[in-house]
Amino acid sequence: MIADVETRKMNAKEALRRLRKAYKVTGPFVEWSNPLELVVGTALSAQCTDERVNRVTRELFKKYKTARDYAEADQATLEKEIYSTGFYRNKAKNLRGMGRVLVEEFGGEVPETLEGLLKLPGISNKTAYIVLAKAFGKMEGLAVDTHVFRLAPRLGWSSAKTPEKMSRELAELFPREDYLDVNEYLITHGRAICSPRNPKCGECVLADICPSFGMIR
Ligand code: SF4
Repeated sequence: MIADVETRKMNAKEALRRLRKAYKVTGPFVEWSNPLELVVGTALSAQCTDERVNRVTRELFKKYKTARDYAEADQATLEKEIYSTGFYRNKAKNLRGMGRVLVEEFGGEVPETLEGLLKLPGISNKTAYIVLAKAFGKMEGLAVDTHVFRLAPRLGWSSAKTPEKMSRELAELFPREDYLDVNEYLITHGRAICSPRNPKCGECVLADICPSFGMIR
């Protein structure tokens, strides 16, 4: 049962306040030192842990430094280099395509707009929102990954059946400047406490404001 929007807003604000207090640091997330690395790391993180992605990209980024490097990469070689992140054929194909689009349409630079980022193969709204927020400080939307998609319904914030719809519903509950924090704190909380099965409700800082307390096995 979903409460009215004002009640959900109050609950969401309080939950974020508590999560910020509970977790001194969020993460770990994909490591990057420029927008291209962030796009590549985030694309590789689909269906893969950020720790594993980071193990792969620490080597990958030594070799591939520009969009052109990806555009001109050999498919089989790149597949081997990113193999352990899973779905390596598709990911390698996307990284090469991404390099080509960046070179041909954006002068080799990562675009700073949602429209531009969505032209890159393999880049979803979720990835684009993360890249815009982290690399350019632009909060264009609230990124809904697997953890956010699991926690938001538990917390009674959204009953949306798709990440896109949930992203729009959650964006109504928080001020724009909080979008990235919502994503990162829910991921951190989802990993630490609110796991898919048997969440540790007894240890949860949201226990008294979570409608799912003790109900998920
Ligand atoms: S009370 Fe339980 S279900 Fe609710 S957020 Fe905490 S761990 Fe998750």
